[in-house]
Amino acid sequence: MTDQVKVFAFANQKGGVGKTTSCVNLAASLAAQQQRVLLLDLDPQGNATMGSGVDKTEVSYSMNDLLLQQAPIAEVIVRSTPAGYHLVPSNSDLTAAEVALTKTASSERRLQEMIAPILDEYDWILIDCPPALNMLTLNALTSAHAVIIAMQCEYYALEGLSDLLSTIGQIQQSVNPGLKMGGILRTMFDARNRLAVDVSAQLVQHFGSTVFQSVIPRNVRLAEAPSHGIPIQLYDRGSRGAAAYMAFATEWLQRYAPRTQGKSPVVALVTESDLITA
Ligand code: ATP
Ligand code: MG
Repeated sequence: MTDQVKVFAFANQKGGVGKTTSCVNLAASLAAQQQRVLLLDLDPQGNATMGSGVDKTEVSYSMNDLLLQQAPIAEVIVRSTPAGYHLVPSNSDLTAAEVALTKTASSERRLQEMIAPILDEYDWILIDCPPALNMLTLNALTSAHAVIIAMQCEYYALEGLSDLLSTIGQIQQSVNPGLKMGGILRTMFDARNRLAVDVSAQLVQHFGSTVFQSVIPRNVRLAEAPSHGIPIQLYDRGSRGAAAYMAFATEWLQRYAPRTQGKSPVVALVTESDLITA
């Protein structure tokens, strides 16, 4: 075991806020910066799996087998995704594991137990959570060293955030006292939208440096890439979306692995003011 912060749950019970897009493209951007990354798809929708170029209907083993202890993690990991990171795939079978775990005592620790043997093989383990505060998300938050909240800057987002923060608080007081608030990532940002700019300012005022400086703009290339089964870096590396996730990966390394700085290429951050003046 290691005491480094390396397991991150991308959680938000609100759907469609950019959790999966951020997991996939951060994984690809970190891999492009010579990092060893494992992405865990913990959503029965299997969006992170398909977006990583792995057909969710064709895999021999998936997250369901892992959580039901039907296969060891070494057999479940897909080691050949186009962008060079590793993946534990998921598909609709995972719903069965969710039901089974809900009926089993202490099952919130199942994912943590199953990934323990491979922690040292990776620099970063990113968990893409489903849009629900259910047993799957509970497993992610129990396994994680830190939570990343992807959110759109809109009015109801702030309301959902307080529910999520209270769930995180409950987890810190029970199963995972060491769980850190890793960061808040503003996604699908549209600098022409006055409300988005206001909500963004409120977020920064409230949460300070917990909010990543990097901001992900709304960019159609990011929405197109999953249908080709490749991350943005492989789909259109010249797009604003690709630049934003590459810059986010750089900020990520500065925040969580300052000692590796110097080894990775320096990419300028894409901040809110860059988007407003663009
Ligand atoms: P769910 O809660 O269903 O798992 P999610 O939080 O994982 O959703 P995504 O699937 O990443 O959210 O994004 C929702 C939709 O928005 C997708 O169609 C995605 O392609 C699109 N999208 C995400 N980020 C951006 C962006 N920055 N610009 C444009 N489209 C985006
Ligand atoms: Mg998703």
